[in-house]
Amino acid sequence: MTAFVWGLGMLENYIKYLKFLDEKLDKFFRIQKPYIVCHKGCSGCCKNSQFPYTALEMSYLLKGLLTLDKDTLDKITKNVDKILEKKKQFTGERFRYNCPLLIDDCCALYEYRGIVCRTFGLPVQAPDGALLIPFCCYEGLNYSNVFDIDKNEVSEEKVKELGSEFEPLGFNISYQYLTNPEFEKGFNIVFGERKPLIEWLTSNERV
Ligand code: SF4
Ligand code: SF4
Repeated sequence: MTAFVWGLGMLENYIKYLKFLDEKLDKFFRIQKPYIVCHKGCSGCCKNSQFPYTALEMSYLLKGLLTLDKDTLDKITKNVDKILEKKKQFTGERFRYNCPLLIDDCCALYEYRGIVCRTFGLPVQAPDGALLIPFCCYEGLNYSNVFDIDKNEVSEEKVKELGSEFEPLGFNISYQYLTNPEFEKGFNIVFGERKPLIEWLTSNERV
């Protein structure tokens, strides 16, 4: 696997940004608790996607990779090799894969995971105000207790029956928003180039 290097000062600032982000997200998850069924071992959100990472996130992930034992690193390397085999056969535009850091349905680098991983499970508020419900709702998971799949909308009736204090809310947590220049300025960080995790893990670039 490739080496990624970023100044320690920048990583320290990024850790402060993550603390700020996690506090916000914890609050969002708390107020949406009646609709959330996320639990350890539930890993649909770590599969079949692109997993965008910026150079800064990748640099932090490397810090985590260096803490892993050989057995776990070997498993990750095998996962990466399998993904690359699949990628060779792929002819479409957006290659999707299961995250190579997912071992036995748990994240091998949970503390170091990327920004998008931290937002999995919450609805996003689209720029037009629409509520974008997490995909796993359609698999009977988050928000499925109040979402009417046939009508493709939240059922007010079901929300009332649940007696929930807060209605399902969409949050301003798109990846684009969370990595925007305002946060770079505010935390004195530079997110840098963005590309799918698998491309970082298999490139020879140093960040
Ligand atoms: S880094 Fe961890 S949390 Fe993020 S997609 Fe991979 S396994 Fe899931
Ligand atoms: S977001 Fe959905 S798939 Fe991911 S852990 Fe939560 S319930 Fe499971």
